[in-house]
Amino acid sequence: MPSTVSVSTHASAAQASSAQPAPILFANRGSDIAGQHYDAVLVGGGIMSATLGTFLSLLEPTWRILIVERLDEVARESSNPWNNAGTGHAALCELNYTPERPDGTIETTKAATINRNFEVSRTLWAALTRRGLIPDPSRFLSVTPHMTLVRGAKDVDYLKRRYEAIREVPGFTSMEFSTDRDTIASWAPLLVAGRRDEPIAATRVAEGTDINFGALTRELIDILRHRGTELRTNHEVTKLHRRGGKWQVQIKDRRWNASRRPAKITADFVFVGAGGYALPLLQRSGIKEIRGYGGFPISGKFLRTTNPDIVAKHQAKVYGKASVGSPPMSVPHLDTRVVDGKEALLFGPYAGFSPRYLKTGSLWDLVRSLRLGNIISMVGAGWHNMDLTRYLIGQLIARDETQFRALLDFYPEAKPGDWEWITAGQRVQVIKRDKGKGGKLEFGTELVTSSDGSIAGLLGASPGASTAAATMVRLLKTCFPDRIDSWRSDLEELVPGAFDSVG
Ligand SMILES: Cc1cc2nc3c(=O)[nH]c(=O)nc-3n(C[C@H](O)[C@H](O)[C@H](O)COP(=O)(O)OP(=O)(O)OC[C@H]3O[C@@H](n4cnc5c(N)ncnc54)[C@H](O)[C@@H]3O)c2cc1C
Repeated sequence: MPSTVSVSTHASAAQASSAQPAPILFANRGSDIAGQHYDAVLVGGGIMSATLGTFLSLLEPTWRILIVERLDEVARESSNPWNNAGTGHAALCELNYTPERPDGTIETTKAATINRNFEVSRTLWAALTRRGLIPDPSRFLSVTPHMTLVRGAKDVDYLKRRYEAIREVPGFTSMEFSTDRDTIASWAPLLVAGRRDEPIAATRVAEGTDINFGALTRELIDILRHRGTELRTNHEVTKLHRRGGKWQVQIKDRRWNASRRPAKITADFVFVGAGGYALPLLQRSGIKEIRGYGGFPISGKFLRTTNPDIVAKHQAKVYGKASVGSPPMSVPHLDTRVVDGKEALLFGPYAGFSPRYLKTGSLWDLVRSLRLGNIISMVGAGWHNMDLTRYLIGQLIARDETQFRALLDFYPEAKPGDWEWITAGQRVQVIKRDKGKGGKLEFGTELVTSSDGSIAGLLGASPGASTAAATMVRLLKTCFPDRIDSWRSDLEELVPGAFDSVG
């Protein structure tokens, strides 16, 4: 964790922390919420709501905040550690953030922005640790070197040029580069043993991270509950309606013995941190800013091993280069994962198609999201992304043995018997209007806010969880223009520099 943060302690945090909240599984006890009014309602118990809630609770300790989660626990969708890869995305190893320009030079601007944005997250976690709100950051963060491995003369040349361009950029100066097999083997032995004679190259940044975003989400929501934030698990927001300058929020209790009548509450501000369901909920809110947006769901799977002999030989996150035509989110990587104190290796992701917008979603999600306002974008994006469609169909019909070969490119001596398939989280890639093509598919994250700032939601997946803190600072600036000046000094204490650096 960075040690540069100096923070003061909020008196109200200390007072509120004397009472223990109920465990998250039993978060429904207490009075019925029907008819209640909240300053802020956060839809979804994932890393995004948890991060925004933390900011709001520290900036406005007296606000009444409610988190509504449709499942029986928080962090069970994309933020669950086995549904994502847990990479602290700082652009240290992911080649898709440093594309090659037509003249052969390397674009580093996007990588520098992602690196800075990840630093905002780290700074926030460090501040919460210093305030005593996060007791032990090692419960969610492990220092794990970030490496890139490429094969073949062309890619070796590209990696060398990337290294030379990026090592000058702040945040990347400690990067090492090597084409020497012994050096690469000393960094990650599994990559070299048994490899045929071919040119290889690797870069390495020792201070990369593996993050358990599920544990982090739970830590943050624990902080929030100590400070008085209410949490309703097994409750689903089904409607959002703007009336009389407030949001009316309709909430269904999903427990089997609950009343069928949904509860209605009101809120001044609503954040739709519903992951893949953010798109349909924002559509239902009726705000004009969501018109034209669509979502393309992509499923995924990983290979995982917990064999201690193999796990002990690989202590790094190693990213490769995506094959031609494949989407950036399918860049293969072989990762050390640390989840609940236990180490494992994860390889993937293997992308596929499923019409669900959440892992626990409905087969009708994609069809139900079609609107007159987004059908042109959806068809246009589909038509202009035939490569992606072909790639996904190829992945869907590929046999397990064929897919296993991708792991052999990284770890030539891998044996199928040591690995199991696990299903990853759903990604819903953003589709936006595009004048020329009708619609275009985006691979980033998109913050959608209403013109009056009373509602905001987050679409898309990448770089996602890693840059949650920077995204939420941007949200605060956009949605709360009347308050942001009074929050400025508190924000500077929490995340120094972020106020000005986040656009
Ligand atoms: C395969 C894969 C790999 C990834 N790898 C990485 C990585 O290495 N590093 C990284 O930084 N990011 C990664 N990501 C992205 C990251 O996981 C997401 O950006 C992040 O988890 C999104 O958090 P969230 O809070 O928006 O959504 P979620 O964690 O999905 O949470 C949304 C919550 O909202 C709830 N919900 C939905 N609708 C409603 C409703 N109507 N009412 C109440 N609750 C509702 C859901 O049940 C869910 O709990 C990856 C994602 C995937 C899928």
